[in-house]
Amino acid sequence: PPALRLRDVTYRYQTADGVAPALNGVSISVPRRGHTAIVGPSGAGKTTIMSLLLRFLTPEDGRIELDGRPYAEWTTDEIRSRIAYVEQDTPIVPGTLRENLAYAAPDASDARVWAAVDALRLSARVATMPDGLDTEVTSAELSGGERQRVAVARALVAQPEILLLDEATAQLDGLTEAALAGAIREVAATGAVVTIAHRLSTVVDADQIVLLERGRVRAVGRHAELLEAD
Ligand code: ADP
Ligand code: ADP
Repeated sequence: PPALRLRDVTYRYQTADGVAPALNGVSISVPRRGHTAIVGPSGAGKTTIMSLLLRFLTPEDGRIELDGRPYAEWTTDEIRSRIAYVEQDTPIVPGTLRENLAYAAPDASDARVWAAVDALRLSARVATMPDGLDTEVTSAELSGGERQRVAVARALVAQPEILLLDEATAQLDGLTEAALAGAIREVAATGAVVTIAHRLSTVVDADQIVLLERGRVRAVGRHAELLEAD
């Protein structure tokens, strides 16, 4: 079975003056390996899909499956231990850089931590820190791009089966974008990566792109296929 599957999922937010439809009959299959990108404009429903996959929300209609079994048969802990999530603004936790990187996998070896640092091209930055990986860091000392790279490196250290990555509005510099693309490829070689993005141009390499528009799937395919269909 696919790693994750949405089957005909519908979701509406309850608001003070009624309901706000967010997803309408959305079906998406996320293979066990490779990069699935969910692309669409603001308000398309991307964040809602992430929230449903992490079970912060429950579908109103339709269902979600992990490893072919409906979410109802899994505990929330089981779901979240299988899925690593990198938000747009993942916070730096108080402590050293090493503690931040090993946050989800405190017993990770030095080699694994360094591999993630290298993959996200953070080694030059670590070299500028007085105590290297053991330097205390704060959000204020790191740029937005560096914070996001630390967040992805943290996910790499945890070696998740499934990685959800929200890059929808991040103002990524070229280095961050290239480092993220490399990290995504690395995780996607052995696991499932789901990213969300605003523009097709940022997910050229994805194995599968799901075009989302106003809560519906408009098209599914690779970058070149979707450009032709456009
Ligand atoms: P993006 O398109 O960058 O993901 P949005 O501006 O659509 O960001 O949404 C940012 C946050 O605001 C999300 O967490 C979303 O759940 C929330 N949000 C979006 N629309 C509404 C709304 N109409 N009412 C309340 N919260 C909303
Ligand atoms: P995206 O991430 O693609 O920007 P969202 O999933 O955040 O889209 O939003 C999908 C739709 O649901 C939008 O119309 C948005 O305004 C609405 N929405 C999102 N979050 C909330 C919320 N907390 N309360 C009410 N409406 C929301």
